[in-house]
Amino acid sequence: MKRFIAGLSALALGVGLFVAPNFAAAKGTVGIAMPTKSSARWISDGNSMVEQFEAAGYKTDLQYAEDDIPNQLAQIENMITKGVDVLVIAAIDGTTLSNALENADAAGIQVIAYDRLIRDSAHVSYYATFDNFKVGVQQASSLVDGLKARFPDVKPWNVELFGGSPDDNNAFFFYNGAMSVLQPMIDSGEIAIGSGQTGMDTVGTLRWDGAVAQARMDNLLSAHYTDETVQGVLSPYDGLSIGILSSLKGVGYGSGDQKMPIVSGQDAEVPSVKSILADEQYSTVFKDTRELARVTVGMVEALLGGGEPEINDTETYDNGVKVVPSYLLEPVSVDASNWEEILIGSGYYEKSEFE
Ligand code: BGC
Repeated sequence: MKRFIAGLSALALGVGLFVAPNFAAAKGTVGIAMPTKSSARWISDGNSMVEQFEAAGYKTDLQYAEDDIPNQLAQIENMITKGVDVLVIAAIDGTTLSNALENADAAGIQVIAYDRLIRDSAHVSYYATFDNFKVGVQQASSLVDGLKARFPDVKPWNVELFGGSPDDNNAFFFYNGAMSVLQPMIDSGEIAIGSGQTGMDTVGTLRWDGAVAQARMDNLLSAHYTDETVQGVLSPYDGLSIGILSSLKGVGYGSGDQKMPIVSGQDAEVPSVKSILADEQYSTVFKDTRELARVTVGMVEALLGGGEPEINDTETYDNGVKVVPSYLLEPVSVDASNWEEILIGSGYYEKSEFE
């Protein structure tokens, strides 16, 4: 009998039919649609998900759309046609996926909104994200801490506001969180918005584009800060902070007796952490993408295998059609005082990346 089986396996191997049992294929394929590779955080998100989904026994199909909406739509339609078992989507524009999700639903494919809420669709099962309002609170709180420390004698502090992309639901949460800290200080006269520009429709930055932020900062400086100086800039994302900082440096801030304004950020990207260490950017917000991947894998397991996913919020994220059950992770404010403990201590980065 043994010899018979051995002979059979040898035969199977010989004709290429013998395939090692592939449990990965058995559990299903996860289609992962990410917005862009131009920002390191989304690369970490993709890598962490592939690693963790494969470890859990799934196959993955990971696609990046380079911030091009039709490209992302085509990638998602393609995944539906190929018959993935579930879709995990970080939308470029959270309002453009309704038709694609109708098609997914018709094909029996469930959808998880990853980091960014997908709006205007009933076909979103869960939402895995961070506490986005808190991200904004942390950005503004560290901005205020920085103003107190670097400009103790200036009153009012001149501050300019930048928002994220208006097609990203998160951008409103970041802005509203930040304004929950800043508005009372504007009202009390401690902070002045030199340009008078407030509100997401005025300060938003389409597609989170650093060059757009840089151009706007250039305009703000030449229109409003020829006689006065600016002490702080609320920036919702490291990629914008880089543009804002080069604009500021371009007119002499950060050299001689012109102190660098306090500039916030988000994502703890390596160039921005280096900028913090060089006393340029003041702070950032760290969001551990490994944790977000872990929560998402749990949601997929629940959708495909049954069982309850980790959910800790069933109120906040109304996408216009339904309140999407969500899991909100904790963001962490990072500056020169705690970067090593948070970013190196957690194993997210190697120390050598900053040497
Ligand atoms: C994410 C942020 C990121 C921004 C730009 C947002 O949706 O939550 O982490 O900084 O997009 O990529």
